[in-house]
Amino acid sequence: MEHLADLKQLLSQPKSVVIVSHRNPDGDAIGSSLAMYHYLNQLGHTVRVLMPSEYPEFLDWMPSIKDIIVFDLEQDRSRDLMRQADIVFCLDFNSLDRIDKLGEVLHTDSEAKVVMIDHHLDPEPFADFVLSETMASSTCELVYDFLLMLDEKDKITIPLAECILTGILTDTGSFKFGTSPKLFRTVADLVELGVDDYTIQDHITNSLREKHLRLLGHCLNNRLEIYEEYNTGLIYLTKKDYAYYGISRGDTEGIVNYILKIKPIKMAAFIMEQPTIVKISLRSKGDFSVQEIAQKYFRGGGHRNAAGGASFKGLGATIRQFKEILPLYEEELQA
Ligand code: 5GP
Ligand code: MN
Repeated sequence: MEHLADLKQLLSQPKSVVIVSHRNPDGDAIGSSLAMYHYLNQLGHTVRVLMPSEYPEFLDWMPSIKDIIVFDLEQDRSRDLMRQADIVFCLDFNSLDRIDKLGEVLHTDSEAKVVMIDHHLDPEPFADFVLSETMASSTCELVYDFLLMLDEKDKITIPLAECILTGILTDTGSFKFGTSPKLFRTVADLVELGVDDYTIQDHITNSLREKHLRLLGHCLNNRLEIYEEYNTGLIYLTKKDYAYYGISRGDTEGIVNYILKIKPIKMAAFIMEQPTIVKISLRSKGDFSVQEIAQKYFRGGGHRNAAGGASFKGLGATIRQFKEILPLYEEELQA
């Protein structure tokens, strides 16, 4: 990180700090934010964690998660906190539109110094201090690096380390992708410190409710389409499905990955009809980039093998659009 000494200087006096991550926060968004929260609290700052929307239920157990302020539920308070912050940490996102209205407040109505720590492709230049490493498994891995850069290893408490391990586990699918020798060394450090990795894995993997499993069954049985000639699979959910199963967006986490379990499949799409938009989640294997598809056709982005976006065209039209894109990538998908 450039100008690290300046940031260290900035953090040497008590400040009003806001930590913010992206809409529909996942384990890495929440893990990196809470890890930073645990660190900055030890320095004596006044720290608030803001999320644009609610966090998924399966992360309920995370240390201090109840302190998170959700913009959708407390809009005025969230705006005020963002306006008044001296320093804003932007974690696990690369452009201000990922935090919706809070991004507008930060852009137009704030004097704060902005720190970005992130691992997504094509970071936008909105921050004063940037730690952007697209090869990193997760933002949590980078938060750990950041604390080492600051020479603050002794401030990595067990709750903080649990938050970091959570983001690493969720963003790597429990070490299935995005791994590196360095990542395993980081995890070894965390375990050596005393983190109970078995319990964290258990929290992450085995925390579903019956309705989640029923919904998964419904998706696989009734909502899965395979386009064999393009090695592509798709699952869609209608508004009625959401109502029938009593689910919200966070409850569908991970369903898209089941499509990739079919051996020749190279690309998986999960298309969700939501109240005002249609949300699309994309996954791929190998060199095939879903980031490009998300960016080009669905106003989104992400990583090469995991990306997402949205459409305003309605569910049927979005599914048709997705199918129309496939022939354009015929060669790569058949390779
Ligand atoms: P998911 O499919 O789990 O929602 O997201 C997978 C990845 O795609 C995440 O890393 C996330 O950052 C990115 N992503 C998902 N939705 C959007 C979106 O609407 N816009 C952008 N820029 N990225 C997205
Ligand atoms: Mn992430």
